[in-house]
Amino acid sequence: MTSGVATMSKINKSLEEWERELTPEQFRVARMKGTEPAFTGEYWDNHEKGTYRCACCGAELFSSDCKYDSGSGWPSFFAPVSEGKIRLEEDHSLHMVRAEALCSRCDAHLGHIFEDGPEPTGLRYCINSAALKFNKRD
Ligand code: FE
Repeated sequence: MTSGVATMSKINKSLEEWERELTPEQFRVARMKGTEPAFTGEYWDNHEKGTYRCACCGAELFSSDCKYDSGSGWPSFFAPVSEGKIRLEEDHSLHMVRAEALCSRCDAHLGHIFEDGPEPTGLRYCINSAALKFNKRD
């Protein structure tokens, strides 16, 4: 370990452990791949400056600097804090092929990624509030 790059250790917990630690809504969304109804979550209309962390493991995922109003009713970001933080997987549910966004560290289901976002990436990370924990910047 002399690279100087902080290695991110993977978190593996059983569903029972997660269920004990999370609220029922966090568990349903982040561990059971649920979706919160649009315009109901805690953060879709949050305009405060700060950091959005994974609700399960606390990993830093998104900055308010990359948040924008997509009109979708879910918190939307055009980029994560760094590439390695989010893992993508193909999701074939609901008769669609979508890119599912997961926390690289604990595999929490965060939401989906679409290609209709703003510059500079053109991507929209459409994320459930229930999978996030916001820390306001001082
Ligand atoms: Fe996580």
